[in-house]
Amino acid sequence: MKASQFLISTLKEAPSDAEVVSHQLMMRAGMIKKLGAGIYTYMPMGLRVIQKVANIVREEMNRAGAIELSMPVIQPSELWAETNRFESMGPELLRIKDRHGRDFVVQPTSEEVITDIARSEFRSYKQLPKNLYQIQTKFRDERRPRFGLMRGREFIMKDAYSFDRDADAAKASYQVMATAYRAVFDRFGLRYRAVAADSGAIGGDLSEEFQVIASTGEDAIVYCPNSDYAANMEKAQALAPVGAAPAPTQDMVCTHTPGASTCADVAKLLNLPLSQTVKSLVLATEETHEDGTPVGVKVWLLLLRGDHDMNEVKVGKLPEFANGFRFASVEEIEAHFGCKPGYLGPINLVKPVGLVVDRDVAVLADWVCGANQPDHHMIGVNWSRDLAAPTTVADIRNVVAGDASPDGQGALAIERGIEVGHIFYLGTKYSKAMNATFLADDGKPRHFEMGCYGIGITRLPAAAVEQNHDERGMIWPDAIAPFTVVICPIGMDRSEPVREAATALYDQLLAAGVDVLLDDRGERPGAMLSDWELIGVPHRVVMGDRGLQAGEVEYQQRRDTEATKMPLDGLAAALLAKLGH
Ligand code: ATP
Ligand code: MG
Repeated sequence: MKASQFLISTLKEAPSDAEVVSHQLMMRAGMIKKLGAGIYTYMPMGLRVIQKVANIVREEMNRAGAIELSMPVIQPSELWAETNRFESMGPELLRIKDRHGRDFVVQPTSEEVITDIARSEFRSYKQLPKNLYQIQTKFRDERRPRFGLMRGREFIMKDAYSFDRDADAAKASYQVMATAYRAVFDRFGLRYRAVAADSGAIGGDLSEEFQVIASTGEDAIVYCPNSDYAANMEKAQALAPVGAAPAPTQDMVCTHTPGASTCADVAKLLNLPLSQTVKSLVLATEETHEDGTPVGVKVWLLLLRGDHDMNEVKVGKLPEFANGFRFASVEEIEAHFGCKPGYLGPINLVKPVGLVVDRDVAVLADWVCGANQPDHHMIGVNWSRDLAAPTTVADIRNVVAGDASPDGQGALAIERGIEVGHIFYLGTKYSKAMNATFLADDGKPRHFEMGCYGIGITRLPAAAVEQNHDERGMIWPDAIAPFTVVICPIGMDRSEPVREAATALYDQLLAAGVDVLLDDRGERPGAMLSDWELIGVPHRVVMGDRGLQAGEVEYQQRRDTEATKMPLDGLAAALLAKLGH
């Protein structure tokens, strides 16, 4: 590609609404252009990256035996009604009407359409297993579209769906995808982790997220540096503490703690470790009779150590909260505790509440909690003496760095990541809802066992930039860079030798299949070089009259602080060797 024939439009400043570095740099480099909230044009420079990402994904999906198709972006609501998602999906699902007043959705994902295809195409077990995928536009009316391509409303996803004859075969298909995903992510050239994820209501352990490591990531990833244990925060288990609560050494005393409404304040005021304090979280559930008629609201008190945080996914898995829960209102709290939030605790309640105690709280002695009286805390509290020993004890907290790894291989560490892929064993959730069956080898109809497998094709470039950039701009790995090599001739318009050398190198690299760009725009050297540093092309060759007279050019990789000299003689071959061609 010659720069004069391409569209290069860089900006000095990022727009003020670009909060994260990937968004800022991709805007400044002219890779994307905003059309509306969470809606972007993929400009030529950005599209090159997206297409490289898509091609890697496509090659590895094909290699793993998946078959590409393309489903409509606009889908009739009837299919979505079959799974009840037309109703249940809420405002993230964009619903539209045609001229006849019929309802349609813009696909946020495509389980319904693919299951409809399977039930008409795969009639016999002999046609299974099958895995179908597409690389297609999605639309999700995200509550907070932000960070450019990271959380758009319109974005591109690779979505694959597997169909199998039974659960074992489906799990084998899942494993094929798990392996293919590792191959995909290895090829991107990014640091990533595959982490165990929560598989929601379906249960089992067959769900993994592929997280690109970046300090700015929204997700916390838990891993053990000494083993391959890795999980996302929702899923990571806290090991049960060993032993029971030690014997009390203090009396329980109600103490004046003016203004100390958080555990941190109390620990500081009383000069105690935060881990000796206990925080009270109050939840509410709507209780119903067996036949579904409402009984009323039940209020729950959850106790966690002051240095721990509640894990909502773990709480939601307890039978007590299986039908959903919410935080209690201030009125509900006052009615049960006789006190406003800030000084709540399990002792001296006005009305009884359900009690759920984290395992680490159940083994504390001489602990501190709110006294249900403004500006007061109980100190020296002990189970069995000051209140009944807890009956519901569970893992309801987020793990913290330094906790023991569940596999016993050392201490857990935490780092941040950006979820770019997610693979999931679905079971018969959709095939049952849509009555999608095939004839099994016993001649009887059976529901398909399914899996689904997504990759955020347009999120990946944003994640790559969050991980790889410096103050000058983006730093692309070779595999997904918009161009692999840029040739920057200084004074090409004035100097015949420069033009000749640059064009010769360009032709040779092009002939060898290298994705090379020749910057023939005639820009001043400073502006030209800073453009390519911003755009982040990984390999750069600068040539000018003086160097050429000495038979040399300058070569620099985007991460290098200085250029190195390379002889003009045999330059193309030497560069090809560096590129691993
Ligand atoms: P998130 O938790 O980030 O909203 P999700 O769990 O809703 O993601 P999936 O439904 O599993 O995402 O979709 C598969 C992949 O699609 C995700 O791993 C992510 O890479 C990508 N993706 C999802 N939502 C968006 C979005 N709004 N913008 C860009 N990519 C997205
Ligand atoms: Mg989402």
